[in-house]
Amino acid sequence: MNTTVAEAPIQLHRRAAARPAGGPWTREAIEALLALPFMELVSRAQAVHRAHFPAGDIELASLLSVKTGGCPEDCGYCPQSVHYDTGVDASKLMSPEAVLEAATAAKAAGASRFCMGAAWRSPTDRDVEKVAELVRSVRAMGLQTCATLGMLKPEQATTLADAGLDYYNHNLDSAPDFYPSIIGTRGYQDRLDTLQNVRAAGLRVCCGGIVGMGETRAQRAGLIAELANLNPAPESVPVNNLVRVEGTPLADSEPLDPFEIVRVIAAARITMPTSRVRLSAGRRELGEGLQALCFLAGANSIFYGDKLLVTGNPDVADDRALLKRLDLPVTGELGTANYAT
Ligand code: SF4
Repeated sequence: MNTTVAEAPIQLHRRAAARPAGGPWTREAIEALLALPFMELVSRAQAVHRAHFPAGDIELASLLSVKTGGCPEDCGYCPQSVHYDTGVDASKLMSPEAVLEAATAAKAAGASRFCMGAAWRSPTDRDVEKVAELVRSVRAMGLQTCATLGMLKPEQATTLADAGLDYYNHNLDSAPDFYPSIIGTRGYQDRLDTLQNVRAAGLRVCCGGIVGMGETRAQRAGLIAELANLNPAPESVPVNNLVRVEGTPLADSEPLDPFEIVRVIAAARITMPTSRVRLSAGRRELGEGLQALCFLAGANSIFYGDKLLVTGNPDVADDRALLKRLDLPVTGELGTANYAT
């Protein structure tokens, strides 16, 4: 069939950004996606989104720092590292009572997933046992559970899986060639090894990264390629917009054009069509209009609660009001979609 003049540009875009037939996503193919005309990229991402998530629902995940600060790693974006003077004091693991109180409040506010984060390089077996107890208790409340505790050995991943942990979060942060610019105390392969251990234990994977740390667009494409080519792709993909915290080496980073974040969300949606793409840290800085664009581009999960690990997040009431104004249903604890009330 002949191509009309009006159709030609769109077909050209499609050819330029196609996934290599039958192969993994290449960095070049994802760079081509990111370079599409903005409206074309968002439109394509929305089509993929609708094909895989017909309800268009938003998952609300609540995050609690169960052990804050004092981390020996040197992640250049993180206020919890002992290497930087950010005013974050080191604390011990929270008591089970305090964690359950927070989980109860998160559930009452409408969260379906409760994530527990601890600032460890790698937990001891005793630490993992304590977190496993927390997982059992939170799960018994009818909440999905997620933990992010640093690097895990195979048997530690199994202990958490046996306790009923649903997801383990371990971010790749950035592309392999940018990673050493922001973290010197561990390597990319360490991250991949833990992800492998988590998968082998039968846990679902939450894995994403951070944009706006000074990386190039090609490196953002490189991160997405790494994530999309994990086999299988992560079930949850958090996309964080750098929160520039005073005292960290990245405090003075040049802010990323917010539309570039929308592009990253869209590329993540297209390359990982069945994953929950979570609009994570830095959401408050985006404002409501940009958040709406991110939902249009395929984001279907947010961190929900007034605080992330140690940085700010939009108010719960503001989030619910925004979802209601956008007619976006939220996913309930049993996976059913309900409109925000
Ligand atoms: S991001 Fe995690 S591993 Fe890195 S310094 Fe912060 S708490 Fe430690």
